[in-house]
Amino acid sequence: MSAAGPRHCPGRVVVVGAGLAGLSTAIRLAAAGVEVTVCEREARPGGRMGRVERDGFAFDTGPSVLTMPELVGDLYELAGESMTDHLTLTRLDPAYRAVFHDGSELAVRASVEAMAAEIADRIGPGEARRFEGFAERLRALYEVELPHFIDTNYDSALDLAKPAAMARLIRLGGFRRVWSLVASHLSDWRLRRLFTFQSLYAGLSPFEALGLYAVIAYMDCVAGVYGVAGGMHAVSAGLAELAVRCGVDLRLATPVERVDVVGGRARGVVTAAGEHLPAAVVVCTPDLPVAYRDLLPADATPRRVRRLCYSPSCVVVHLGLSRPLAGSAVHNVHFAADYRAGFDDLRAGRLQRDPSWLLSVPTRYEPAMAPPGGDVAFVLVPAPNLRGPTGAQLDWDAQAPREIEQAVARLERAGYGPVGEARVVAEAVTPADWQRQGMAAGTPFAASHRFAQTGPFRPANVAPRVDGVVFAGSGTVPGVGVPMVLLSGRLAAERVKQILPRRGPAEMT
Ligand SMILES: Cc1cc2nc3c(=O)[nH]c(=O)nc-3n(C[C@H](O)[C@H](O)[C@H](O)COP(=O)(O)OP(=O)(O)OC[C@H]3O[C@@H](n4cnc5c(N)ncnc54)[C@H](O)[C@@H]3O)c2cc1C
Repeated sequence: MSAAGPRHCPGRVVVVGAGLAGLSTAIRLAAAGVEVTVCEREARPGGRMGRVERDGFAFDTGPSVLTMPELVGDLYELAGESMTDHLTLTRLDPAYRAVFHDGSELAVRASVEAMAAEIADRIGPGEARRFEGFAERLRALYEVELPHFIDTNYDSALDLAKPAAMARLIRLGGFRRVWSLVASHLSDWRLRRLFTFQSLYAGLSPFEALGLYAVIAYMDCVAGVYGVAGGMHAVSAGLAELAVRCGVDLRLATPVERVDVVGGRARGVVTAAGEHLPAAVVVCTPDLPVAYRDLLPADATPRRVRRLCYSPSCVVVHLGLSRPLAGSAVHNVHFAADYRAGFDDLRAGRLQRDPSWLLSVPTRYEPAMAPPGGDVAFVLVPAPNLRGPTGAQLDWDAQAPREIEQAVARLERAGYGPVGEARVVAEAVTPADWQRQGMAAGTPFAASHRFAQTGPFRPANVAPRVDGVVFAGSGTVPGVGVPMVLLSGRLAAERVKQILPRRGPAEMT
């Protein structure tokens, strides 16, 4: 890989896991001339951004809403390549189709102007003007947060003290609640829901999340949502190929059993097959609390990690259908009548009585994911994680078939046609499955982003008690979701480059 340039950085690095965080870290290090081996437990790269194939249908297992693809593009650029030569992205318009309990609908359009026109048309010109001011506020929040608070490594809480940026964040409403920030701009009840539900991506209700998290609405409702030719897994598969072109030694079907730690210093990893791979630094990207529990010595886990408060989980129902879903967009958000009650249920660790839910239909932009004339449906319903009273007690394996029936009934009630008789494949993934896949508390959304678990207060991306261990992924900084874990790879690579010079090849033997 010529673009990587000369190898000038001493010491081999082993990255555990070839999800987006692991691939982002590995590509960045390899492009800087570091010798990198990635060990991935599964036979396929991608982690949560995985792929399952059944009876001619292809299912993306994790993220369906792709935002900030320029962060993927950055990785291609680092390697001297162009993302557009490898991935075909289309900005979705609408980004979402929002459906409300009274039967009304709104489309989240692909530009501020088009969205303002949609609001003017459906609600009124006054609200459209207010929306333009709101979009400007979101952009300002994003511009101050990204460099100062998101894409940054923290060594202590003192690093938060950036007076100018902090003052601006306060002025922009970053420390109000998301709901109150949005409601101060928008008066229509549907718009308030449409621009606050994203707090759940950070594991919080918009009534408790800080205004800081309104930036998630910027990422999808203003900066845009994208479809990818081949489906979402094309992104992780493409990055795995890029990593190999960069010279990364990508070892699939290679579970790591433990990090080899001697005298408080990491010296490499031991695979399940018993192979010892020496390394000057080990980057762990499995879910952080599980990485501490399973891969590192028992006394390495910081107290804060033992006491984490986790995001709600979700149930995903994958349906392969012989007929198309009538009237669906790619992403369809169905809001419950009592918006707040759903968040209250999740917060109390209960199954929601009347949930809001997401239907994604990737076959709208990639028909090849289903046999001709068919459709693929991904129905995501937020659910309690395994720490709350219901989540812990429920027999999720027995609940799974009920979740499938409920998803089918929801789709039929919502007017998508006779879904039950069209189903060819139906599978439910529950919190128990997420736990079996190695996610703490049975949630794929990691520790929640309450203030006490954000920025310098989130589990750090360096292990405080083991020298030479770095973390990337949704359990550490900056947080959950495709853009955040790609950035976590950048932050981890920065840490590795700080550690390597003092831990040269001599330490690897
Ligand atoms: C259902 C669902 C929907 C989502 N929706 C969205 C969305 O719409 N938009 C969005 O931005 N984000 C979404 N997310 C979140 C996003 O997918 C994740 O935050 C992100 O993919 C996590 O990436 P990661 O690299 O941190 O972890 P992972 O992808 O989990 O990567 C960790 C890797 O480590 C491997 N591993 C674990 N243990 C070992 C071991 N001992 N040895 C070797 N390898 C090991 C695993 O197999 C895995 O490949 C969603 C997630 C899920 C599950």
